[in-house]
Amino acid sequence: MEKQICLLEGDGIGPEILAQGVQALKTVASKCGHNFTFVSALLGGQAIDALGEPLPAATVSACKAADAVFLAAVGGPKWDNLPADKRPERGLLGIRKAMGLFANLRPAMLFPELAKACLLRHDIAQRGLDLIVVRELTGDVYFGEPRGIEVRNGERTGFNTMIYSESEIARIAKVAFETARKRRHKVCSVEKSNVLETSRLWKEVVCEVHADYSDVTLTHLYVDNAAMQLVRDPAQFDVILTGNIFGDILSDEASVLTGSLGMLPSASLGASGPGLFEPIHGSAPDIAGQDKANPLATILSAAMLLRLGLGLGREADLVETAVRNTLAAGFRTADIMEEGKTLVGCREMGERVCACLEKL
Ligand code: NAD
Repeated sequence: MEKQICLLEGDGIGPEILAQGVQALKTVASKCGHNFTFVSALLGGQAIDALGEPLPAATVSACKAADAVFLAAVGGPKWDNLPADKRPERGLLGIRKAMGLFANLRPAMLFPELAKACLLRHDIAQRGLDLIVVRELTGDVYFGEPRGIEVRNGERTGFNTMIYSESEIARIAKVAFETARKRRHKVCSVEKSNVLETSRLWKEVVCEVHADYSDVTLTHLYVDNAAMQLVRDPAQFDVILTGNIFGDILSDEASVLTGSLGMLPSASLGASGPGLFEPIHGSAPDIAGQDKANPLATILSAAMLLRLGLGLGREADLVETAVRNTLAAGFRTADIMEEGKTLVGCREMGERVCACLEKL
């Protein structure tokens, strides 16, 4: 298979971790007889330094022309004092918008080899944590109009608008049900329909879409209960379907429970066109350039790119198995280090994964 992948290495640890992700893609491609070509484009701080803006037009074109986009992370203290619309993170929001990426998929998974890192009580962790949050990414109170701060009745008043149309809800619900079909066939829709009209419509539309997915079990939770259940008994969840603001909060909660930020990948998908695949963590400026970063979230993002971006499920399985085998063999970067294990740097961790891949 011939495919083109656009690389956005970004800032901080970005270049180090993306190099390892790309190496994993090259290894699996040569093993399985595919031909991937890579084009690089500028995003975030590196684009500001080179061209004065966080999202150059050439980057948008390169991303849209590719079959998938592979991003590391952007941002850092060097650009923190720039005005909001010139900051690296604006490039990130901009590229998601330009590519029409409305669905954000964030798996939170506890690798048995890293069970000690889990923040939950042992008996709860033992029941397992393997879920995916499907979050709507382009609507809700983050984008709703009107919004602003103005003086009302003699005092400053801030306001935002929570808004979803039924088509926006239906398309993200479909992504969740399709995702569940490839997993354990369970979707839990999370909203606040006891208080919010937006959530009442959300629940209604999710139930309507569910009619086409009778093989998937649908349950509903209010967001406050969902936040509690994630800590009390995360094993009950397979796919969590939710809107932008609830998903923002719940996906961070779910991932931090695993205790290893450096292990978690994500995918952002649109209705058509290429998806964007990236680790959930940031550019970790505190360890940039020191060969200390954990590249596994990026390598696991490469697996999501293969499965969801290119439709190569077997190749994705190979990459994920290679990561597990590397952990089972006792190799750890500093962020997941435990007594009795072998400490390796970013580059060596990537090389170990590729060596495992070649043996599969
Ligand atoms: P961060 O995720 O970059 O780092 C938080 C902590 O986790 C740091 O101690 C860091 O060293 C560690 N860490 C993160 N990734 C790691 C990895 N792969 N291996 C080992 N340790 C890792 O979050 P932050 O410090 O709040 O933000 C730093 C910069 O990244 C900021 O400019 C922020 O805006 C940006 N950011 C970007 C993204 C993105 O590109 N998607 C996401 C979050 C933050």
